[in-house]
Amino acid sequence: MAGDPSSNGRDSSRIDRRRFLALAGASAGALSLGAAPAAATESPENLAEADIDGFDCDQPIFECGQQVTAAGGMVSAEDPRASAAGARVLAEGGNAIDAAVAVQYVLNVVSPQASGIGGGGFMVVYDAESDSVHCINSRERAPRDAHPEMFLDNGEPRDFDEAIQRSEAIGVPGTLDALETARERFGSRPRQRLIRPAIQLAAGGFTVDEYLSEVIAENRDKFNDAAREVFLDANGNVPQPGDTLTNEDLARTLELIRRDGRDAFYEGPIARDIAATVEGLEGGPGIDERDLAEYSVTIDEPVRKEAYDFEIVGQPVPTSGPTTIAMIMRMLEFLDIEEYDIRAPEKYHLIAEANRVAWADRDQYMGDPEFVDVPVEGLLDDDFLRQRASRIDLDGVIADYAAGEQVPPGVPPGAPERFTPDWAATASTADPVSSTAHFTTADRHGNVVSYTTTIEQLMGSGKMVSGRGFMLNNELTDFDFEPGGPNQVQPRKRPLSSTSPTMVFRDGEPIFTAGSPGGFTIITSVQQAILHRLVYGLEPLEAIQEPSIFSARDFDVMWEPDVPEAAVEYGEARGQPWADEPEEIGNVQVMDVRPDGFTGAADPTRDGLAVGVNLPQARGRSPEKHPESKRSKSKSNKDR
Ligand code: GLU
Repeated sequence: MAGDPSSNGRDSSRIDRRRFLALAGASAGALSLGAAPAAATESPENLAEADIDGFDCDQPIFECGQQVTAAGGMVSAEDPRASAAGARVLAEGGNAIDAAVAVQYVLNVVSPQASGIGGGGFMVVYDAESDSVHCINSRERAPRDAHPEMFLDNGEPRDFDEAIQRSEAIGVPGTLDALETARERFGSRPRQRLIRPAIQLAAGGFTVDEYLSEVIAENRDKFNDAAREVFLDANGNVPQPGDTLTNEDLARTLELIRRDGRDAFYEGPIARDIAATVEGLEGGPGIDERDLAEYSVTIDEPVRKEAYDFEIVGQPVPTSGPTTIAMIMRMLEFLDIEEYDIRAPEKYHLIAEANRVAWADRDQYMGDPEFVDVPVEGLLDDDFLRQRASRIDLDGVIADYAAGEQVPPGVPPGAPERFTPDWAATASTADPVSSTAHFTTADRHGNVVSYTTTIEQLMGSGKMVSGRGFMLNNELTDFDFEPGGPNQVQPRKRPLSSTSPTMVFRDGEPIFTAGSPGGFTIITSVQQAILHRLVYGLEPLEAIQEPSIFSARDFDVMWEPDVPEAAVEYGEARGQPWADEPEEIGNVQVMDVRPDGFTGAADPTRDGLAVGVNLPQARGRSPEKHPESKRSKSKSNKDR
């Protein structure tokens, strides 16, 4: 994992704050730091108010909080400045897609560690007018010179921390193309308006929060000179919470994009600078100007699968997320998970096993559908899932995980013959609580967006495009490092993802959205948010705060604080190895979508803020379509 505090000395990089400010005052160049108003660091609301011109949570048009309800629109994002910028767009009459575009631009500035125009993502759009879902797929692509052995070093998979900093890790970024495609196709406001808050923040400065300060300290070792110039002062010191950071290079880049749109990025001087930055790195085939010029998002049909009385709808492969979530949810339904109390040991055991089963099939069959025939229908087939679920037993486990065994993959209808490489040798376990951002927006017309956006690891490759102010991803390390499997490297291919931008529908109407960062753990975080909200009937914020677990392959079960000790003992007694200590998993943003409005919730594990907009609703949708608990119809609680 990048950013190991023990190796790069997070503590030693912590410097006395007064000394830091004195040094910062003397520094010049791209970095400009200063003390922000003291109130700015007190709460997400204050952060948003300090940094977004004209935004005030006390204005009657806005509702701010970790969970809020409003009729006229909603934004829930991991950063309060992003939520505020999106809510202002909605308040001016912009739609959910306009708001999402504004949110992503602001995240690029204030949360540069998690996403930006140097990365990619998946934007799931519900278009109310046509009553249809469109998945704007801006996953990064491998360069045309990429090859299946490019992550091998003398025939052996390269060390992950080393691999992420090399040129072959960097995929052709897709995020700007996604923003422009979404805006042109579904938006209603000009690019100039939507990019404006981001330009103001980059040029005028924004308040460093605790998380960004920590991430800079923990990842500075992988920074190139350009990143050091922007994120550290002239003496190499890390900005502290409450300081003001500007990124003038990024402001200039965004100005060019404001003027010229996607062409400013995918061709011309910025494209040349991207190619030159990549070329300057050690490594094998890297992206070049031609790869950038050839990049284009795809607009995919969503994957859909019923479970309980709802339908899971989301981005299909090349992210494994929503498809795998749907498999797990259907298996849990077949296993009657709702018969068990929300904190019952049996509930966690069933989730742990269902995850391992679904992951076996994910690993065996999923990859970029432009290159691999993925048997999606077979994987989601009820008979197949019933048969897979029937292997799960409350009295034991399917394989000896402690000894490194895994659940064997199943054979779904339509399954091709497959060779699976040794996963353990192929890829990383991403930092479970950090990378990537998920946010959700909705408007008074009923349009809804669920968008997960990433540069892969925290701060991506650690390499900033020289003079341009944005970080480059290391997304191609999501490919298998060993050749042979469905997720092997191929020219122009997109690596398999775990991101899970998801919507839930009932009776043909969207009722809920969910998504999270967290690498491999994303799938389980989002799946449990859906389970807790729609099967156990918790309120949106409770649903994301209810402790969750992660399991896959032969990993020890990761568990959040508040999972009862009895669950750990129960699992261990049956052969389920659990991690010694609990830890927070994911950062889930969710939203209830109702005919009369929206309830957004933002995960308190970062500075997340939900901002609702009090505009009159535009369409009268019937109030009986409120998300409701399935569990209220199920049998009584057991085993609390
Ligand atoms: N690159 C990861 C994926 O697409 C996401 C990174 C993370 O959230 O840690 O699955």
